[in-house]
Amino acid sequence: KGKRAFIAGVADDNGYGWAIAKSLAAAGAEILVGTWVPALNIFESSLRRGKFDGSRILPDGSMMEIAKVYPLDAVFDNPDEVPEDIKTNKRYAGSSKWTVQEVAESVKEDFGSIDILVHSLANGPEVTKPLLETSRNGYLAAISASSYSYVSLLKHFLPILNPGGSSISLTYIASERIIPGYGGGMSSAKAALESDTRVLAFEAGRKRKIRVNTISAGPLRSRAAKAIGFIDMMIDYSSANAPLQKELSAEEVGNAAAFLASPLASAITGTVLYVDNGLNAMGVGV
Ligand code: NAD
Repeated sequence: KGKRAFIAGVADDNGYGWAIAKSLAAAGAEILVGTWVPALNIFESSLRRGKFDGSRILPDGSMMEIAKVYPLDAVFDNPDEVPEDIKTNKRYAGSSKWTVQEVAESVKEDFGSIDILVHSLANGPEVTKPLLETSRNGYLAAISASSYSYVSLLKHFLPILNPGGSSISLTYIASERIIPGYGGGMSSAKAALESDTRVLAFEAGRKRKIRVNTISAGPLRSRAAKAIGFIDMMIDYSSANAPLQKELSAEEVGNAAAFLASPLASAITGTVLYVDNGLNAMGVGV
């Protein structure tokens, strides 16, 4: 029987979430996505108008189908937590049931269960500021959107994740090495995400035989990465210094995610898997 995947953090065809969806679809999975509420309209209309058709083509020539797009804002766990200004914001008022708990309930109602949960989202409002200039609110917002959002997603989806299932998030080496420019508490948020990967692997493994891993991905020119401002430099740095001197494609990360989600990885949990052309292993630039 085919597997079903829910991928949180897909709003265009440039990011890792889209590439992971494609690799999972190519392996036969049914694809559900969670799209950030403010980006929902443009994503859905672009899908409808065929703007992504070229990038929907799978290796066998067929098109990736997205069974359903769910509006999601992963910084809110349930309706009680949504402040009035968000509730009445016109970008949010047009959608409903987009808190983490409600999305998990809707997926359960629509499909019953899933096998694969992917978290491919991050947000740090002060990412361009050095840590020393980051405000408390900016730091906490980065942690809320980029780290706790994963704890919350896994917590709410765990009851409908089939035993033997797999959960994957995306991290970045700025969690463990100094990457000047990755600011606003985003480096801290990725460190939390990696630590949580281990603890959640234990808890979800014991509770429901679910595996939990994170992929430490190399630089990709996604929408989120362009907002940080140094992505071209990071791509050039990697091409110059990594053991494999090629530009990383989103598909390579998608394929690693498909491996982690598959029975081929049945004994792998609690790990950080580097998919970065080997850059993490270098001690100095050469
Ligand atoms: P992306 O822009 O494709 O994905 C980020 C997504 O997060 C967007 O779709 C955005 O709408 C969504 N999002 C933001 N706040 C949200 C919220 N509150 N609720 C729901 N969705 C929200 O960019 P990407 O670079 O592919 O990012 C995906 C993941 O990969 C992130 O965790 C990122 O940190 C990680 N990553 C990226 C790189 C890179 O160089 N691009 C490198 C390593 C890790």
